[in-house]
Amino acid sequence: MQPIIIVGSGLAGYTVAREFRKLDATTPLKIVSRDCGSFYSKPMLSNVFHQKKDPAKIASYSAAQMAEQLHAEVLPYSSVTALDPATRTIQINHQDTGYQSLVLALGADQRRIDLAGDAAEDVLSVNDLADYLRFHTLLHDKRRVAILGAGLIGCEFANDLTSGGITVDLIDPASWPLSRFLPEPAGQVMADALSGIGVQLWPGCTPVAVDRSDDGYRLSLSGGKSLQVDLVLSAIGLVPRIMLAQAAGLTTARGIVTDACLRTSAEHVYAIGDCAEVENLLLPYVMPIMQCARALAKTLFGTPAKVTYPAMPVVVKTPAMPTVVAPPLQQDGAWETDGKAGSMRAVYRNADSSVGGFALLGDRVEEKGALLKQIAPWRI
Ligand SMILES: Cc1cc2nc3c(=O)[nH]c(=O)nc-3n(C[C@H](O)[C@H](O)[C@H](O)COP(=O)(O)OP(=O)(O)OC[C@H]3O[C@@H](n4cnc5c(N)ncnc54)[C@H](O)[C@@H]3O)c2cc1C
Repeated sequence: MQPIIIVGSGLAGYTVAREFRKLDATTPLKIVSRDCGSFYSKPMLSNVFHQKKDPAKIASYSAAQMAEQLHAEVLPYSSVTALDPATRTIQINHQDTGYQSLVLALGADQRRIDLAGDAAEDVLSVNDLADYLRFHTLLHDKRRVAILGAGLIGCEFANDLTSGGITVDLIDPASWPLSRFLPEPAGQVMADALSGIGVQLWPGCTPVAVDRSDDGYRLSLSGGKSLQVDLVLSAIGLVPRIMLAQAAGLTTARGIVTDACLRTSAEHVYAIGDCAEVENLLLPYVMPIMQCARALAKTLFGTPAKVTYPAMPVVVKTPAMPTVVAPPLQQDGAWETDGKAGSMRAVYRNADSSVGGFALLGDRVEEKGALLKQIAPWRI
């Protein structure tokens, strides 16, 4: 019997495998990953530096342990370089391998920013454990880091590194941090909290160039300002990995396009996680992946299931200002804010005045449960 092959050993790939094994203990399962195949919590990476945790201890299970747990074959350090839906084969390290069903759980790349300067290539990003190990090694003895992008990951790293004794410059073209998630008054509360712990914010600024200097890097910003830093970390967003699917003729848009059952345009091929665009939605977060994995496991088992999304709040790991956001799905309404310095409740009202999303900061995070009950599940 040909195996079900899952390409990718991130949260999406391993969670599908786990959910599938709850339904089916025997169908051969192969998990192929171009990384080391160990299981770790990716969200931990932007919150672990100040804890002084040994980076070698972040992974909770090795590839071999995952293989045993999942009763699966796990192939680490193995790249899938091509796929042919017509013959139901993929190339693993350039060798043809057949599948009965194929799950693409390829993740996303950090978006690269176009910068001038002789050190533009030295700009770092952290999107997986190997990136973090490299960043952590380079951080040794360093004192000042510039972070490009004050989104979820940029703000979390800013808080984490500052708590760990690093001086942080946080640069973003928007006027307030987390501008995709928070209305301005709430963003100002976050900005005040980050400034309060020592983060230097540079709102309304765009990085232009990175050049080597005698002791680190000179980062030039729009408006003529320049900063002297030891490292530059970019956190400006993600680009789903679609090239493999594109080359095989699958329908792609921003991500690999799927229907509500996670089916791509090719028969027996599915996509999930940061690489997938499920019914026009890109949701590169943990909770949507868990929902999708449960649905996809049923579909792989032969009982096709559509994913449904409950309201899925994202906890922003900024201890300087505890924050939880449930981003609105529709954009036809408006934010209502209520708060003061140090805390804030922002509720997004859809056009019909129902609650479409929220952002809670400081002691208002306690209102999460009550607000979640007011958001209708997203049915796609
Ligand atoms: C620093 C950080 C903090 C985050 N914090 C949060 C948070 O607090 N809350 C939240 O909800 N979300 C958070 N996220 C997002 C969340 O972690 C991701 O949405 C999720 O981990 C993505 O899982 P994935 O399996 O889709 O992708 P990945 O984990 O990127 O896995 C992709 C896998 O595919 C493999 N692969 C890719 N191409 C190939 C190929 N050609 N051949 C073989 N293997 C291949 C890779 O090696 C990898 O194993 C955070 C993300 C980051 C980077």
